[in-house]
Amino acid sequence: KEKEEVDNLENRKTELANISPEEILSFAKLPLSRKTLKGLKDGSFTVPTKVQRQSLIFSLHGTDVVAAAKTGSGKTLAFIIPLLEMLYCKRWSPMDGLGALVITPTRELAYQIFEVLKKVGKEHDFSAGLVIGGKDLKYEWNRVSTCNIMICTPGRLLQHMTENPEFTSDNVQMLILDEADQCLSMGFADTMNCILQELPSDRQSLLFSATQTRDVKDLIRAGCNNPVFCSVHEYS
Ligand code: ADP
Ligand code: MG
Repeated sequence: KEKEEVDNLENRKTELANISPEEILSFAKLPLSRKTLKGLKDGSFTVPTKVQRQSLIFSLHGTDVVAAAKTGSGKTLAFIIPLLEMLYCKRWSPMDGLGALVITPTRELAYQIFEVLKKVGKEHDFSAGLVIGGKDLKYEWNRVSTCNIMICTPGRLLQHMTENPEFTSDNVQMLILDEADQCLSMGFADTMNCILQELPSDRQSLLFSATQTRDVKDLIRAGCNNPVFCSVHEYS
């Protein structure tokens, strides 16, 4: 018999508080929407990896998470799932505008994340955009105003923030930094500081990288609020 869907965040929190990471032998054990579960199943994702099990109980709860796990450990799904579920629980509609922002250091990574989002999020009705430069800025100009989810590189995102009157981030509920240590490194410092200043401060922040970001200054800069630290040292 199929488990009943819990689509209310408060009830989900109760469920999440009673699950330990070791018990999550399948994604179906977690309080997730039917739409996300279908996307996962159709993408042949059934058993969560360790970093997914360790972080999802917190990220789905609405807590800030700073996670470190090596390349190939499944960090992308670990943030795409809570992103979809947050918008779903908030009954996000196209009119609500931009609700979640993923920042990653390179175009290639942004493409890969976008592909995972399309696959796992295919049953949802959220609109998503890739904002990575290289394409004509004017082409993106109007389209960014209709995105609920944006996957971006820092430079291009800041360009929209500063030059595009159609762009607004006032309603952003969740910020995800993929390869967070690189995003917060010297090379991106000025750009990221400008971006982070623009975002609403009551958002949820999820930071993922291969090495643990424990620099308190960086975490404060990224807007982390009492984050949970997850470190995973092995695969699966
Ligand atoms: P990372 O960002 O940690 O380097 P990725 O998110 O790119 O890792 O995932 C690495 C690979 O693992 C991808 O091919 C992805 O499809 C696969 N993968 C992720 N999670 C799962 C899962 N729960 N079950 C099976 N394969 C998975
Ligand atoms: Mg990755």
